[in-house]
Amino acid sequence: MTAVPPQVARLQHHFAEALPELALPSEAASTPDPRIVVLNEPLAADLGLDPAELRTPEGVGLLTGTVVPEGATPVAQAYAGHQFGGFARLGDGRALLMGELVDAHGRLRDLHLKGSGRTPFARGGDGFAALGPMLREYVVSEAMHALGIPTTRSLAVVATGRLVHREEPLPGAVLARIAESHLRVGTVQLARATGDVDLLRRVADHAIERHHPEAAGAASPYLALYRAVVSAQARLVARWMLVGFVHGVMNTDNMTLSGETIDYGPCAFLDAFDPTIVFSSIDHGGRYAYAQQPAAGEWNLARLAEALLPLFDDDEDRAIALATEALASFRAEYGAAWSAGMRAKLGLAVDDARADDLFAPLLDLLRDSHVDHTSFWRALATAARGDAEPVRGLFLDLPGLDSWLAQWRALGPDPDAMDRVNPLHIPRNHLVEEALDAAATGDLAPLEDLLAAVRSPYRAVAGLERYAEPPPADFGRYRTFCGT
Ligand code: AMP
Ligand code: MG
Repeated sequence: MTAVPPQVARLQHHFAEALPELALPSEAASTPDPRIVVLNEPLAADLGLDPAELRTPEGVGLLTGTVVPEGATPVAQAYAGHQFGGFARLGDGRALLMGELVDAHGRLRDLHLKGSGRTPFARGGDGFAALGPMLREYVVSEAMHALGIPTTRSLAVVATGRLVHREEPLPGAVLARIAESHLRVGTVQLARATGDVDLLRRVADHAIERHHPEAAGAASPYLALYRAVVSAQARLVARWMLVGFVHGVMNTDNMTLSGETIDYGPCAFLDAFDPTIVFSSIDHGGRYAYAQQPAAGEWNLARLAEALLPLFDDDEDRAIALATEALASFRAEYGAAWSAGMRAKLGLAVDDARADDLFAPLLDLLRDSHVDHTSFWRALATAARGDAEPVRGLFLDLPGLDSWLAQWRALGPDPDAMDRVNPLHIPRNHLVEEALDAAATGDLAPLEDLLAAVRSPYRAVAGLERYAEPPPADFGRYRTFCGT
């Protein structure tokens, strides 16, 4: 195996060194005909990587795992997870942690590959990923980042030249993903399940060091770590709810300790507002429906507390009492973050509670009239400017809306502030599908346009007006899939 010239990337291996029990050395599969489909040049620069170097054969090798920098140790990470409520021991079945990079701000970031071939955790899977779903993760994670929502990033998607077999043969691809880390609730759960308290402590120490260093100085560092994760996740899920994002597979292996959104499998954004909506083809019970997300997050954090218990106190009853109290802050923090966000969406100051009684009736109106969530908030700003017709055009129940509007407008909302927090562009389902269909035929223009739109969430882009429109009436019910 050739080595990447040092100027392409210097990789560290803190995770593999600190937690060898959870790091299985593994190798990427060969790539018959690798070709970069998208490269995130601004992100590359932020990571101190030269986009031109990444486009060389060595760079493409790094992005697919077939070329390993000297001293690097690619590993598949072991973790556990409650998947739809059932506990399982898992691990990266088709992914590799290449190592960590020091970015331009001095922060450690994981370079991780998805779709790079089978690992010891692959079970029945082929270890590969198809091009469409990897581009989907690229687009949606870029959109989330542009919206200011904590997320893993996508550095590149490389088509491998290998066909992968799903219901039909599809072009294969590798996604290069960047994250603050890939430590998950499930990582802690696996450490706990081994019964090795020293390993559990090292996982927690590693999480403190990488994500919540302030916890190290607390009277009880592990409880402080837990509180920090609860807080980060409460604020994250509030952001999802405010923008209409449905994650789709909030298993504990898909919830990070850093508070970044991870795993863009079956996720989708709401078009018509519907609290019960589910996009994932496997979520038959609606466990991860839009409005269930705060409860799902809280449930996952209860599992995290159970896993960390031995570190909270030697006395189990005392440890449980501490954990229970810390978990209780989830509801308060979630509620505070969501309310502040709703006030901002309504054009009020984040600490102005006068509109709080208007939240619930508004959500009922949106649901009952099947209103397009994203269009609504921009039309509402137009109403704040004095023209209520665009927003009235979205509703069936006009008397109900008019009475709500009168109460809200009496509070003096600021329309310009609304347009700074309510996106015009989200990665709408019909646009994502259109871009992926075109990319499958080799036409990348719609993907580039969609990326340009979602990278400008709050401002119109000349020529891309249709990217701010709701789906056509015949778009129908949208379905998403896992493990693609
Ligand atoms: P996800 O639903 O994407 O979080 O995946 C759940 C688990 O299945 C993870 O541990 C993945 O690594 C594994 N997995 C998904 N697809 C494949 C595949 N094609 N080959 C091997 N493992 C896979
Ligand atoms: Mg996952």
